[in-house]
Amino acid sequence: NANLKEADSEVFEICENELERQTDHLEMIASENFTSPAVMEAMGSVFTNKYAEGYPYKRYYGGCEQADRVEQLAIDRACEIFGCNYANVQPHSGSQANGAVYAALLKAGDKILGMDLSHGGHLTHGSKPSFSGKNYTPFYYGVELDGRINYDRVMDIAKITQPKIIVCGASAYAREIDFSKFREIADAVGAILFADIAHIAGLVAAGEHMSPFPYADVVTSTTHKTLRGPRGGIILSNDEDIAKKLNSAIFPGLQGGPLVHVIAGKAVAFKEILNPSWKDYAKQVKANAKVLGEVLVSRGYDIVSGGTDNHLVLVSFLDKQFSGKDADAALGNAGITVNKNTVPGETRSPFVTSGVRIGSPALTSRGMKEKEFEIIANKMCDVLDDIENTELQASIKQELKVLASDFVIYNQSTY
Ligand code: PLP
Repeated sequence: NANLKEADSEVFEICENELERQTDHLEMIASENFTSPAVMEAMGSVFTNKYAEGYPYKRYYGGCEQADRVEQLAIDRACEIFGCNYANVQPHSGSQANGAVYAALLKAGDKILGMDLSHGGHLTHGSKPSFSGKNYTPFYYGVELDGRINYDRVMDIAKITQPKIIVCGASAYAREIDFSKFREIADAVGAILFADIAHIAGLVAAGEHMSPFPYADVVTSTTHKTLRGPRGGIILSNDEDIAKKLNSAIFPGLQGGPLVHVIAGKAVAFKEILNPSWKDYAKQVKANAKVLGEVLVSRGYDIVSGGTDNHLVLVSFLDKQFSGKDADAALGNAGITVNKNTVPGETRSPFVTSGVRIGSPALTSRGMKEKEFEIIANKMCDVLDDIENTELQASIKQELKVLASDFVIYNQSTY
């Protein structure tokens, strides 16, 4: 019964170092967040030990009484949050959830229409290296020169390509997605509408972004981004027939036993989201991202689409001598963690890129508001303005560490 420190001092030390990194650096990767100690406690619970193939009250294993209860709670809470009738909380990841949607609703080779990866779509939306681009026949829409989706153009592409499924949702799109327009497009060509709200789900849950319901036939999300839960996925629907197919696609189609400890963590995160204070969090996430964008623009940086309606900004360096990779490294040296990202009109390779994606969800969870985001955004610009100045990066890192120390994430080591 030794604890981690006693049982494995090496892993313990690595975890301590990671806690220190998360505490001292400013976490601005748009897809990351700080989950609560309660969620982590559920994930570290005895459910780690349990096999529970099947679904609540219809299992292939004995001893699932408590697993049934916790999975049903997660399902009920997910349905309450998103206002839908069916939820599958078993996907091990967002990609797994998306794979299940295709497996449930398509045959190999069927046509899918999704957002181009280099324009902000996700790998699983038909990108060639992903199963979605290999097993199906992908077509793409993107953004216009103004950085926004042009729905008339998507309609034209859909009419020409006649996809079986249309995927809407993105990994790096800073503007509101109009699901009603996608519904019109899907109806015009008789396609299934699939919304992947992985990035914006926390905003949707708060009513701070248009909901994909009642427009989409099927909705997926990760649970660890703006939803601030454990790493994993969910699938939502209002259609009983689709829901049955989705359940079979997850188990036994793609997965074996569900991760009941993670499902318990999802249930806890969903309870947090159902608390009225969640709306304040989501509003603050948007307000902070807005300030970030405004400062970057005022300091002469090019933001794709000129601003943001959600939790992220995509900065383009197409007009600069340095790349997204350079910016990512320089900001990292200054204690600001972001990720390099391709931008519309990309000229560099996906490893180098011409942009960075910056998000507000994690620092908002730490309690930072507009005032801190203004300071941080200006420091970012100081770094980028003089990108080779490593002394400046080191001194900004120290300043930001002091700023970060006022915003405690975890009071004690919580693994
Ligand atoms: N869908 C979107 C829009 C995403 O941004 C991501 C992750 O970045 C995923 C799906 C995949 O999630 P996961 O990394 O859990 O497979």
